[in-house]
Amino acid sequence: MYGSMIEQACLGDARAWAVTGRDRVRVGDATIEYDVRRSARRRKTVQISVDRDGVRVAAPAGIADRELRDIVVKRAPWILQHANAQPATAEPTRFVSGETLPYLGRDVRIVAAPAGRPSAAVTFDCGGLRIAVPAHLPEVERRETARGAVVEWYRLRAAEDIPARVDRWRRLLGEGANPRILIRDQRCRWGSCAADGTLRFNWRAMMLEPSLIDYIVVHELTHLKVRNHSAAFWNLVARSIPDVQQRRRRLREVGRTLPALTAAPPARPDQPASQAARRRWAATYW
Ligand SMILES: [Zn+2]
Repeated sequence: MYGSMIEQACLGDARAWAVTGRDRVRVGDATIEYDVRRSARRRKTVQISVDRDGVRVAAPAGIADRELRDIVVKRAPWILQHANAQPATAEPTRFVSGETLPYLGRDVRIVAAPAGRPSAAVTFDCGGLRIAVPAHLPEVERRETARGAVVEWYRLRAAEDIPARVDRWRRLLGEGANPRILIRDQRCRWGSCAADGTLRFNWRAMMLEPSLIDYIVVHELTHLKVRNHSAAFWNLVARSIPDVQQRRRRLREVGRTLPALTAAPPARPDQPASQAARRRWAATYW
């Protein structure tokens, strides 16, 4: 009955999608997690789509979970192929007007203009993220200068925002003195808690919506009490963040879509320069 299927890979298309459920199947070594939207309007076909936000299955209202799982397993090679292709499709940021960058969970418009001064400057106001780069720089240099200035801007925002959150949550949790806080450029993590109690946070956290920054802060603060990721740890986190599991899932999903803003690698003759620059940044957070 549900045999006919439409598949589509919506590259970079993140339309709003009313989710009615979520499920997962294991296929060999891989786990496919997918959002399900059941709709009375959909009569017979099951539509599977893969985009940067994940795998989505649109299904008729009456179909059983088990039947959907069977369909997903059957289409697993196609799904995995397209899911793996997603990160490579992201274009690197060029720091030109019209592009956007995420800040506190919102897409902020870039307004780029040549600067009348020798150094680059980034300011943020209701008009957007204004990037001024000295005029007459060659394109590669202009882009790298803009990138450096934007990263510095995120770092400064993080250096203001994150210690304030740590302080607030520390008081709520009844912790002792404020820990030492460092803002870092970590390749694949949002934060860490060192043995000496120093908390390190990734400046990219400023790209996230505030509820996710809070989750990261509480996660690391909780490590001051419980050093591992045991059930006791998660129970303690959940006391402050009752919807911790939703936030973790959201963080995993959103994290995959954020621009890395890492320096473009030097061009190598055996590898197109854009290849590595195109890679998006993905943090794991368990
Ligand atoms: Zn942890």
